[in-house]
Amino acid sequence: MTAAASARQILTSLHEIMASRTHAQAKLNQVVETIGESLNSEVCSIYLLREGMLELFATRGLNQAAVHVTRLGVGEGLTGTIARNIETLNLAEAATHPEFQYRSETGEEKFHSFAGVPIVRRERSIGVLTVQHVEPRKYEEVEIEALQTTAMVLAELINNAGLVDAEELDRLPEAHSGQEVITGLKLVKGLAIGKAVFHQPRVTIEQTVAEDIEAERQRVYLAFDRMREQIDNMASQAEFGVDGEHAQVLETYKMFAYDEGWSRRINEAIDSGLTAEAAIERVQQRTRMRMREIQDPLLQDRMHDLEDLANRLIRIVSGQLGTAAQKGLAEDSILVAKNLGPAELLEYDKRRLKGVVLEQGSLTAHVVIVARAMGIPVIGRVANVRGKLREGDEVLVDGDAGKVTVRPSHGVLNAFEARFARSREKKAAYAKLRDVEPFTRDGERIVVMMNAGLRDDVGMLAMTGADGIGLYRTEFQFLVSAALPQRERQARLYRDVLDAAKDKPVIFRTVDIGGDKSLPYITSEVSKEDENPAMGWRALRLALEREGLMKSQARALLEGAAGRELNVMFPMVSEPWEFDAAKEVFDNQLAYLKGQKHKLPSSINYGVMLEVPSLAETLDLLLPRLSFVSIGTNDLTQFLFAADRANPVLAERYDWLSPAILRFLRRVVLSCTGRTVKLGVCGEMGGRRLEALALLGLGIRRLSITPAAVGQIKELVRRVDTREIGQAMQGWLANPPQDMRAELQAWAAARDIEVE
Ligand code: PEP
Ligand code: MG
Repeated sequence: MTAAASARQILTSLHEIMASRTHAQAKLNQVVETIGESLNSEVCSIYLLREGMLELFATRGLNQAAVHVTRLGVGEGLTGTIARNIETLNLAEAATHPEFQYRSETGEEKFHSFAGVPIVRRERSIGVLTVQHVEPRKYEEVEIEALQTTAMVLAELINNAGLVDAEELDRLPEAHSGQEVITGLKLVKGLAIGKAVFHQPRVTIEQTVAEDIEAERQRVYLAFDRMREQIDNMASQAEFGVDGEHAQVLETYKMFAYDEGWSRRINEAIDSGLTAEAAIERVQQRTRMRMREIQDPLLQDRMHDLEDLANRLIRIVSGQLGTAAQKGLAEDSILVAKNLGPAELLEYDKRRLKGVVLEQGSLTAHVVIVARAMGIPVIGRVANVRGKLREGDEVLVDGDAGKVTVRPSHGVLNAFEARFARSREKKAAYAKLRDVEPFTRDGERIVVMMNAGLRDDVGMLAMTGADGIGLYRTEFQFLVSAALPQRERQARLYRDVLDAAKDKPVIFRTVDIGGDKSLPYITSEVSKEDENPAMGWRALRLALEREGLMKSQARALLEGAAGRELNVMFPMVSEPWEFDAAKEVFDNQLAYLKGQKHKLPSSINYGVMLEVPSLAETLDLLLPRLSFVSIGTNDLTQFLFAADRANPVLAERYDWLSPAILRFLRRVVLSCTGRTVKLGVCGEMGGRRLEALALLGLGIRRLSITPAAVGQIKELVRRVDTREIGQAMQGWLANPPQDMRAELQAWAAARDIEVE
């Protein structure tokens, strides 16, 4: 008999047992008889979880008196080990295993060989199915597979009969037990507590035994087709981006998606009588087991990709396609994903989404900029996080330390909650400053504006009491759109933003796309070959040359700001002529609108971002034509240090408080002193207290920062005497201390100014 045929025979009998009108206990009794007989084993037993213990529920071959008497802890003995590790054991001589324990009441001393498989539901062991044999021999692979298939069917039976209730499941920390702390890359600061939710939810298989094998084959066949199509399309999706790492992942995906061996094995499992979902899961279980034996880190990485794909296939087959956002979040949640696009993040209910943990991600990823604006802490580059936790696990996200704590112990949870409470208190105190104008101790009015990029961000103006929007990243609208936003749509957004900002100023930055902010519909022809996208054909460089892009945005801005003040800022200006060229586009559009008797903005101010160091060298030449200059320290730092801001290895290598940056900034401040031009900083640097203190010391009086930081920066401003910090800074710049950060910290501490 073939393996499939014997498995089918077992499934047929299981199917009959499940369909019979007896109670659950009788069914379990029948199952152990059937399995024992088919596998020629004297003993077959089922242990189920009850009150946290594995209780012997049914047996053939052990003393019947032990049923409902023998109880093992999870992790105790061979059976407990199987449950704890969710792994199969197959031993010729049970007693040789280090975890072996002998239970006298069962009378099992006669039996030598032992095999057991976990009964799994929602990725947790809810029981164990074992077989034992007098003769010391290992079970064959087909026999083990029959056991595993039986365990799947049992999981369904147990669930339907309510033998292990949901509460029991929730109490169970088995798949991965106990607290685990995983470190990653700090992407967005902040603390969060919530339950893990997978962006791509795992499907719980409800029916394992097929009614109609041909129909199941057809379902899997169609699902494969659909999945391959999705993979082929993925290259252009935000979910995967287009850069090197993603391309590799995609290649691996393709390899698996078209792997004949994989689809054949699934078909064989269907032949044995499983439903399509169960067959995919069955094959996946087997692969997992093999991989565990191999323990090759490279292959394990591949395994994650395969898991991802198998999950996708099951979702397609079962028609459960939605992301967790579409299902809706039920409680405070920590979103766990391989990677996310900004639009995908925005689909989540902001009130319930508390934190994000990504396996990939980098500081400049748009999802990260969006999350920062939303005030949601994010930790990235957390390797295999989806393999280390289950949905529903409690998770602590510490964006300040870059740590994810899964299933925290009581002590850790309490300490975290206390910290969280303190930080909330602080936030509340900051919120009170909403209507307080930020004057320094020596009476300097510091302008604290906020950065924005989405329509909804503007609401934060009123909430934070910021002085305006110092950087409106117009490319966000492009990033969350599937196609290039039409001019009318752009204009409508700009109008809405100005409406919402009421009388507060808004500085619109023209699109900064290209390079790492690539859009499939704009830059695909360049960015793929661009070896160094941040220094590539990007921002103004692209906008000026890409026919129509700058022109239509200029029109949209002029139209959107009709009757009001318009502030336009150009990104990545490297030489003065680029500013002139960009302004000329606006002048032409303005002339055109004037000719058409359109209503025009009441006034227009132009400015540049200073983020390419070369501009500092020629800034004096350009200044007379500018209303404002905004220093983009995010890009500036990466260019000054020649250190890619998206490279996690370099993420912490160079300090914003290094003498090189501070001296550079000081030079820019001096070149603007005595002029009417408004100079500010709009990089992330300004949103951190210690860095903001340094900026005040350098003479910066305008900041545009992430909304979440407005309160705390205002609070900082009120504690600082700019003359005092200015003097100290002068000393440090002339004679830089070994550790500028430490020096500043000490300076602040001596004045009771909190800077962390
Ligand atoms: C910067 O570079 O500092 C900046 C504010 O712009 P972005 O982060 O959008 O590149
Ligand atoms: Mg920039």
